[in-house]
Amino acid sequence: MNILVINCGSSSLKYQLMDITNENVLASGICDRISLDKSAIKHKANNKKIEKQVDMPNHKSAAKLVFELLTDSEYGVIKSLDDIKAVGHRIVHGGEYFFNSVLIDDDVLAKIKDCSDLAPLHNPVHAAGIEACKDLMPNTPMVAVFDTAFHSTIPQKAFLYALPYEWYEKYKVRKYGFHGTSHKFVSQKTAEFLGLDINNSKIITCHLGNGSSICAVKNGESVDTSMGLTPLEGIIMGTRSGDIDPTVMQYIAKKENLNIDEIINILNKKSGVLGISKLSSDFRDLLKAEGEGHKLVKLARAAFAYRVAKYIGSYMAAMNGIDAISFCAGVGENAVYIRGMIVENLEFLGVKLNQEINVKTIGTKAVISTPDSRVKVCVIPTNEELVIAKDTYEIIKNL
Ligand code: ADP
Repeated sequence: MNILVINCGSSSLKYQLMDITNENVLASGICDRISLDKSAIKHKANNKKIEKQVDMPNHKSAAKLVFELLTDSEYGVIKSLDDIKAVGHRIVHGGEYFFNSVLIDDDVLAKIKDCSDLAPLHNPVHAAGIEACKDLMPNTPMVAVFDTAFHSTIPQKAFLYALPYEWYEKYKVRKYGFHGTSHKFVSQKTAEFLGLDINNSKIITCHLGNGSSICAVKNGESVDTSMGLTPLEGIIMGTRSGDIDPTVMQYIAKKENLNIDEIINILNKKSGVLGISKLSSDFRDLLKAEGEGHKLVKLARAAFAYRVAKYIGSYMAAMNGIDAISFCAGVGENAVYIRGMIVENLEFLGVKLNQEINVKTIGTKAVISTPDSRVKVCVIPTNEELVIAKDTYEIIKNL
C-alpha cells in the first residue's frame, strides 16, 4: 500500500512515496525555490536521479510536477495516481486543537489555517500543499501529522510561561514544542536498540539539524522540550538565537532603529551559529573554517555544544534521572566533534564516550558510550517521513 508523504516549506515541497507494507521508499525528491527564479525539482526513483529547472509559481504547480514524475514512463514508479492510497502531510503547528494525527476534512483544514498566527512561515504553506493535493486527487484520503502533537503530554508546569495567566487563557501563549515526530521515533528506537522498556525509561533526544531541539522523554512521553511557542526558543541553532533575555529586543530596537518584526527576523534568520561566527549556519563550513584558524567559529561551536549540554543537564533534573541520550538529524548524526564536546560536559555524571566508536559513527545507528558509562549515549538516525507514513496508514486503514 503506497503512502505519499508531503512536507511543504515556504519555498519547497519535499516528498517521499513509501510502500508501507515493507517500509520501502519507492521515490523521493524535493521541489526547491517555488515561486522564485530558478525553481528546480530533484527526483530519485528506481536507482535513477533527475534534476531539472522548471517554473513553479506556486505549491500547486510543484505538486502537479511531482505527480507527473511519479507516473512518468522512465522516472515513475506508479501507473496512475490511484496507486497512491493516502497522503500524509507534515504540519508544524497544531496549536491546542490537535494532540494526534487526524484525517483532513474542511474543519481540520480551517483549524490548520487558524494556527497560522503561531507558525506564519509554515502553516499557510502546509494548507496550500493540502489544497494543491486535494485539487489533483480529490478522492484520496489525506492525514495531518503535527510536529507539536508528541508534546501534548508536557505538563502545565513545564509548558506555561510565567506571564499573566490571561495570555494563556485568551491567546494560548504557551510552550508547544516541535520536531515531535523525530523525538517520538528516536526515543522509541533508542529504547528498542538498548533493550529498555519504553514504559519505564528516561531518554533525552537531541535533534540537532538546521533547526534543533532537545526533548525529555519519560516512559515514552514528552515531558519537556526546548522549543516553545515557536521554533525560536531553546538551544542555539544554525540561524536562530534560541533563548535570550527578551529585553535585548527593546535595547536593540532603540540602538538600531528597528521594529519588533525586523528584530524577530534577525533572531530567526541571522543569529545562531551564523550570528556568532559571522560566517555560516552550516557546521560543515564551520569545521573547515576552524581548521583554518577562524576564532569566532571556534566560539560558535563551543557556545552551541555548551548550550546543548546545559539543556541535557536540566532535563536530567526534569526527569529525576536518565537512562540514555540520543543524537539525531544532520549535526547529531554526523558531527562527531560536536557530540564529543557536548558529552565532555557530562563526565561528572559518569557519562563516558567511546572516542573510537564516536569518530566512526557517521549517519548510522550506534552506542557511542563506553560499556561502563552510567548513561548510554546513542546515535539514532531519525526518519520523520516513516512516522508520518505510519500514522497516515493507521488512520486510513479501516476507511
Ligand atoms: P533540517 O532538516 O533542520 O534542515 P538537517 O537535519 O538536514 O536539517 O541538518 C542540516 C545540518 O546538518 C547542516 O546545516 C549541517 O550543519 C549539518 N551536517 C550535515 N552533514 C554534516 C557533516 N557531515 N558534518 C557536520 N555537520 C553536518
